[in-house]
Amino acid sequence: MLTKRIKVYGIVQGVGFRPTVARHAASCNIRGSVSNYGPYVEIVCAGEDKDVERFIDLIRHEPPKRAAILKMDIKDTDRDAGDTFEIVESEKTKGEIFVSPDIAICDECLAELFDKSNRRYLHPFINCTCCGPRLTILDSLPYDRCRTSMNEFEMCPECSREYYSPETRRYDAQPVCCNDCGPEVFILDDAQNRRGRDAITYTRKVISEGGVAAIKGIGGFHLACDATNEAAVRRLRELKNRPAKPFAVMMRSKETVEQNCYIEAYQEEILEGHQKPIILLVKKEGSRLAPSIAPSNPKVGVMLPYAPIQSLIFDYDDGIKMPDMLVMTSGNLSGLPICRDDDDARREIASYCDTILTHNRKIRIRADDSVMDFHNGKPYMVRRSRGYAPLPFMLSREFKGMVTAYGGELKNTFCIANGSLMYPSSYIGDLTDLKGKNALVESAARMETLLEVEPSAVVCDLHPSYNSSLAAMERGLPVIKVQHHYAHILSCMAENDYDKEVIGIALDGTGYGTDGSIWGGEILRCDLNGFDRLASIRPFLHTGGDIASREGFRIAISMLIDIYGDEAEEKINALGLIRKGAYKTYKAMHDGKINSAVSTSCGRLFDAVSAILGIRYESSFEGEAATALQFAAMEYKGDAKDTGVELIDGDVIATDKIVRFISDQKIKGEDVNCLAYCFHKMLAEGVSSMAIAKAGDTKVFCLSGGCYQNTLLLDMTQKILTSRGYKVLIHSMVPPNDGGIALGQAYYGINKINTEDI
Ligand code: ZN
Ligand code: ZN
Ligand code: FE
Repeated sequence: MLTKRIKVYGIVQGVGFRPTVARHAASCNIRGSVSNYGPYVEIVCAGEDKDVERFIDLIRHEPPKRAAILKMDIKDTDRDAGDTFEIVESEKTKGEIFVSPDIAICDECLAELFDKSNRRYLHPFINCTCCGPRLTILDSLPYDRCRTSMNEFEMCPECSREYYSPETRRYDAQPVCCNDCGPEVFILDDAQNRRGRDAITYTRKVISEGGVAAIKGIGGFHLACDATNEAAVRRLRELKNRPAKPFAVMMRSKETVEQNCYIEAYQEEILEGHQKPIILLVKKEGSRLAPSIAPSNPKVGVMLPYAPIQSLIFDYDDGIKMPDMLVMTSGNLSGLPICRDDDDARREIASYCDTILTHNRKIRIRADDSVMDFHNGKPYMVRRSRGYAPLPFMLSREFKGMVTAYGGELKNTFCIANGSLMYPSSYIGDLTDLKGKNALVESAARMETLLEVEPSAVVCDLHPSYNSSLAAMERGLPVIKVQHHYAHILSCMAENDYDKEVIGIALDGTGYGTDGSIWGGEILRCDLNGFDRLASIRPFLHTGGDIASREGFRIAISMLIDIYGDEAEEKINALGLIRKGAYKTYKAMHDGKINSAVSTSCGRLFDAVSAILGIRYESSFEGEAATALQFAAMEYKGDAKDTGVELIDGDVIATDKIVRFISDQKIKGEDVNCLAYCFHKMLAEGVSSMAIAKAGDTKVFCLSGGCYQNTLLLDMTQKILTSRGYKVLIHSMVPPNDGGIALGQAYYGINKINTEDI
């Protein structure tokens, strides 16, 4: 006879771990107990030696589908295992805590949802032990119903029976409910008070007739309309004042996706997986998607329904014929945090839609949809949120203590470090106004409570007036500041669990430099303790202040004035960048340095080249001109021309010479796609040669920053460096853009409190 005490660490809460253990115990004749302790699940087991071994083996190799075991700690014990196997109600303890992300509806629940004989037929909140909301309904740990927003709904006797019976699929499923006892959907502020099925039918009717409906899902509201109806999509664009930024599309099934997009096996796995992010796929010619979904973009963001209510919008028993593709865009004011309650929706999105389908299960934490691109057959995250946050990254290096890092200003996320565990948050959004800042402050406080973290310091960007920095400084804790591009590189190091010196290539939009100028095209020597700026792209005059981030042609003009001197007017006119006669005004602004700053922003360089090539003169959303330049380059099927341009000039990458070459060739009438490709190639070669020239004995390179969302630029840089024998670290599950910097800040902060007195 053996008695063992096992502690299992990882995602073991809210994934049906305890019932699975109980089933394994029954099949192995094991006596004992299993209980949740927040940081871990504890099992006491007693039985014949071989049974105990088999039992442990089963836990290790056949855990519940959604669990992720990080560590099992097994010891002999003399504790009394009792006569049966019991699931002990949760006790609360402190420590390393894992919170499960929300899990998309599973196949079994989906089958029941459309099974007329099932008592949850068409129930908009169906879920089970291995699917349903988690993080978004959680108040505190351990994960039990009374500490979620399901606490308000008392289980009916039938649900209660399932909840307490280990042999059912809903044993210990905290959000379990049914048509009799669960939350209810209804139309918000509706004179006719449509609820339940009337509300669903009404919403379907609105959408099928070309209208726009807001729908409350798992982590917030979406705005939905028929994605095959050009007029409907255009109307939504007008309502949202969003002329061109691509809309994500929810498709009814994998078959619909296959009809409309090219999809590889590795993408299919993620499309149908339990996280259900939006994945970027190349559209097929002949796709039935309305042209306005993602104008001038070869790709479209696609996801499958992940909340039961979304499945019901596609399929219901009311005879309404629905489209098989719906726009599903975040219900928010442009860039701001997604709306999560009825008041948010009334205030912010009521004017964008014809009806609002809401429900009375509260969302505690927002979780916008995750967005994933791919690079070399692997995920390449654009936005890490629902389904992934707040899964931690575990660093090998041992740290003690806790810090909270507040991230950047755009695409904000925060990150909590608790010892060697780093918890990047779900997506907050842009912090350009107070709503964003408040959402950050509130979410960070909630996550700290959930994870039982009391930070001894906060970490933020060097920028003095970022709302994220202000939020951090208002905490009244010691503040650790991290330069923006150094944080990008640290983020890539953290994701790759790397803690030694690297040469960082940060190609980015803009960030505050240590000299007060705007940085964004940087070669940095970095380790955990600090960085040296080794080189950058050629500084240029960033004219027009913030407006210039949308108006690439202004930067182009300013660059060309510096590059061509006396010939500038002629060249600028030849490139058709401005109206005839307007040159004097721009020249005066340039010479007077009116509203301008010195900048090495790589993002703005892309915008300028996009304007010079006549691809986009300005952007209606962040990155529009730059991505259009990338798409043009990807159209080109030839090799890069031998340009003969000297790409390095001392400590600067000669981006001015690149721009001159591109402009000269454009004026000569060279093919635009070819030049777009050449620009990418020259830039990749320029930064790589500079980085190599400066690397010394360092053999590891790190690529990060928003411009590396451009997978062509990424691929070119990576290939040059690896072909020269260097190791290249890149992102995968953490975005290279500003959504990733909180992780880098947290890495720096936790190291600092472990190495210095703060
Ligand atoms: Zn399920
Ligand atoms: Zn019920
Ligand atoms: Fe950045």
